[in-house]
Amino acid sequence: MKTEIISVGTELLMGYVVDTNAGRIARELLTLGLGTYYQQTVGDNPDRLRDALELASKRSDIIILTGGLGPTQDDITKQVAADVLGDELVLDEKQLDIIKGVFKKRGTEPDEKVYREALTFKHGQTLLNEAGLACGSAYVRETNKETKQHILLLPGVPYEMAHMLKNKVKPYLQEIIQDEGVIESLFMNFNGIGESKVATLLNDKIENQTNPTIAMYAKPRHITIRLTASAKDAETAARMNQKAAEEIQEILSKHFIGYGEDQTIETYVVDRLKKKNLTLSILEGFTSGLVMSSLTRVAGVSAVFEGGLVSLNDKMTESQLGLEDLSDASAADAAKMTAEQCAETFQTAIGLSVTAEITPNTSGQLLSGTGYIAVFIKGKPVKMKQFPLPEKPQAVLRDLLKNEALAF
Ligand code: ATP
Ligand code: MG
Repeated sequence: MKTEIISVGTELLMGYVVDTNAGRIARELLTLGLGTYYQQTVGDNPDRLRDALELASKRSDIIILTGGLGPTQDDITKQVAADVLGDELVLDEKQLDIIKGVFKKRGTEPDEKVYREALTFKHGQTLLNEAGLACGSAYVRETNKETKQHILLLPGVPYEMAHMLKNKVKPYLQEIIQDEGVIESLFMNFNGIGESKVATLLNDKIENQTNPTIAMYAKPRHITIRLTASAKDAETAARMNQKAAEEIQEILSKHFIGYGEDQTIETYVVDRLKKKNLTLSILEGFTSGLVMSSLTRVAGVSAVFEGGLVSLNDKMTESQLGLEDLSDASAADAAKMTAEQCAETFQTAIGLSVTAEITPNTSGQLLSGTGYIAVFIKGKPVKMKQFPLPEKPQAVLRDLLKNEALAF
């Protein structure tokens, strides 16, 4: 079954609001094995929305619209859809009760316009909105093909849309696809290797892919490979993906950091520390906390990350970490000493130090000079890496995570 998403809203076309709904819908559909074939974005304009809907009707089996269900003049989705489908709009009593309940809680009365949010297709099914005011609607349209066409209207407010997607749309779609096969995706993540190298190593597999298909995305700090198998049931599809994944792992084993759509280098580092039961602390100089801040975006990081010090001042670093005068040490030695002493001070198994010897520059670059990354792991000699500073601290973070994440 082919799915199409139509996002409605002039603000989306103008670039004031980024369309997050379409992506969220497409991802959810994938979990049901439904592929999105087309996406359209259209403004709050009846003629153009009608065109978009008619185009979608010619080529897609499931059409999901998001946005424009509200009470104002520019909310036209329901009326335009009803016109295209040859249906009428009627008030849904249950949604009306929800609306009245919300206003009662607020201690005010809804005005007439608000009731429009309870409008739904007369010959369709209401998708109640329990997280907001405007209900959605589903309409089944007979076609001259074997399959019927399904048109679903969802609100634009991302939170409401997500709520309805999970609680109303998913069960609705599950029912209509019961007899169809399924598509399952498996995501594999790799680090410390470039996209073209992966493409070369997997050349044969990519050229001969049929089922599962292999797709590759370069993300800022790692590479994700998506395997998508289609089969009669989820279990078979999962088995097919797993088999292909094992073959790929064999080729890229050194770089494999794990499965999952949301995995990042940071989640990998935190997971690995957890598995090995190790704790970490960090001293940062010129990166001013970037490394720590990127790690602390991972849920559950506090179990393994004890904290750190951001200091661009040698005297402060010395006094905070209990070190003797660093001014006589070479920058490389200072990096090693601070990594070790950071672990000591924070009582962690691992101490990481990211420092630099900055040279004044005239080229207008943010940074120039030499960077040092030292990793101290209790009981082992300190590892140290030296590198010419890239233009921005962010790039150091990227390289650090790319190359060093696998070090422990
Ligand atoms: P409401 O009841 O709020 O009027 P609605 O269904 O009419 O709901 P819109 O008016 O189109 O929705 O949008 C409501 C809010 O959601 C706006 O702030 C809009 O910018 C945002 N929004 C709409 N569509 C999207 C989208 N596709 N992705 C992200 N945000 C969106
Ligand atoms: Mg809108």
